[in-house]
Amino acid sequence: MQKLGQILQRIDGKGYGAYKDLGGKAFDISWFRLQFTKIQADPYAPPSKLIVTTRIEDTGIPRDILDDPVQRTAFFDFLHRRFKKLNKSRDLVLPRTTQKVHIRSIFRVKEDHLQFNLKIQLPAQGRRILGRQAHSIIADELPRLLEEILLYDNLPVQPLNRHISLYIDQHYIRKKLSEEKLLAFVANNAVLPRESGVSDKPLEEAVPFETPGSMEMKMELPSGKELIGMGVPEGVTLICGGGYHGKSTLLNALQEGIYDHITGDGREYVITRDDAVKIRAEDGRSIKGLDISSFIAGLPYGKDTVKFSTENASGSTSQAANIIEAIEAGSKLMMIDEDTSATNLMIRDHRMQEFIHKSSEPIVPFIDRIRELWEDQGVSTIMVTGGVGDYLEVADQIIVMDNYLPESKMEEAQQLIANYPSKRIKEVTDPFHINTERKLVVRSINPTKGRKVKMGAKSLNNLMFGMENLNTAHLEQIAEPSIITTAGEVIYSLTKENKKSIPLVESIAAAQEKTLKQQFENLMHSDNCDYTLPRKFEVIFIANRLRQLEIQP
Ligand code: ADP
Ligand code: MG
Repeated sequence: MQKLGQILQRIDGKGYGAYKDLGGKAFDISWFRLQFTKIQADPYAPPSKLIVTTRIEDTGIPRDILDDPVQRTAFFDFLHRRFKKLNKSRDLVLPRTTQKVHIRSIFRVKEDHLQFNLKIQLPAQGRRILGRQAHSIIADELPRLLEEILLYDNLPVQPLNRHISLYIDQHYIRKKLSEEKLLAFVANNAVLPRESGVSDKPLEEAVPFETPGSMEMKMELPSGKELIGMGVPEGVTLICGGGYHGKSTLLNALQEGIYDHITGDGREYVITRDDAVKIRAEDGRSIKGLDISSFIAGLPYGKDTVKFSTENASGSTSQAANIIEAIEAGSKLMMIDEDTSATNLMIRDHRMQEFIHKSSEPIVPFIDRIRELWEDQGVSTIMVTGGVGDYLEVADQIIVMDNYLPESKMEEAQQLIANYPSKRIKEVTDPFHINTERKLVVRSINPTKGRKVKMGAKSLNNLMFGMENLNTAHLEQIAEPSIITTAGEVIYSLTKENKKSIPLVESIAAAQEKTLKQQFENLMHSDNCDYTLPRKFEVIFIANRLRQLEIQP
């Protein structure tokens, strides 16, 4: 402590640059060690980076919590939230918390040590160093906080145990889904709608979820809790109902169900399999060497759709590409909403089939592939449709939303199909196929601008990747910008592969897995608290959208 005090005293009142004297040294402060890994150049630059390390033994944190990946994630999330709650200083900085629990790069176990990454805004008046104030933040405020969040005896036992126990239950449900051939589970009394289009908080006075009788199931959880709720079986499920009756709200809750939500969110027990992918139209996106011929073949002027590339996809080609890429990446669950779909990819009705002959229509509509995807490829679909009755024929389950409450209406639908047969003709000729052999050219990935690496996302809408500004706005399942940044880092790590070209899906999946295992150590900055682990799907989908990406011809 002596050393830190001496330095701060010496540089007090000097120009801001003198803070650099704190860099590169380790300061031992009672039970922990401090290290400044990056010192900001001026008071307006991004905050400085700080690493706190301590022997796990000295914290009293039980080793079994840290050794179990599920408990560890929930535990670190609890510490993160506790820090945000207790931190009164605006100068000590951690990423904001949300309704969701993520694997982040804030805390890390390194053998018998615990590492804690955070940031600090080093204080100044104008450009003069405020040494005494810095001392009080670093030597008083910070140790007080560290005692409250890292010393196990100071943690509130019951809230902590509840936090971990909920997370264990959520993981158990998700595992159970695959075992029982279910896609998703929604517990009774879940609150699905959100406060607003820009808030992830629950809507007050919402109609709570109630399971339709025939879809009811019981879940017995590790915590001893028993839940009754709706199990959505594998296959094709339609969500129908009148406009404004809550169809999209149900689908949105299901697509967010790949994440785990905190107590009070309303979606704690809305759990979806973690290979679920939201599919939508996304005109304008780039597509590289993708075989979309299962959906689109015979474009004007003989344009190739077996290795289809475009800098500016249409609604239908973009949605076809999104489906193919999701399946290529290994997803077995497509989630589709009519609100954000290209109508001509979803359906061609009888009249249109008569009006425009098949020979002039390159599109095989999704309705003619949906059963095949399930029966031959094991790919399920959950789809919202209020407008297209032809889909009733291809469903295994039909949920009708009525005044925000679901009803199961399979029998009524079958009766109706018998009474009003559709005249539409199936338009598929060849079996569904994808080419999973796409290889990316390693040197085409370039995250540099000038001589520097320029990579990161400030919002959900864009990833800066070198010279490129990539549009991520339509990847609806990305929960926060830090996921995009980390995905960018995972893609960047591929440039270190010592090969000319590598299999796209396989390599990205391996890089993501490595990131998860090493808890962000293979990324550029292991002192960074701002990384959030993405699923392999989001990384692959972002790579697929890179305009600089070259696919081996
Ligand atoms: P649809 O897709 O059927 O047209 P939405 O899902 O978009 O309808 O829902 C319409 C509106 O109803 C939204 O503003 C949504 O927040 C609200 N809403 C949805 N579910 C509920 C509910 N369970 N309780 C109260 N309001 C709800
Ligand atoms: Mg809708």
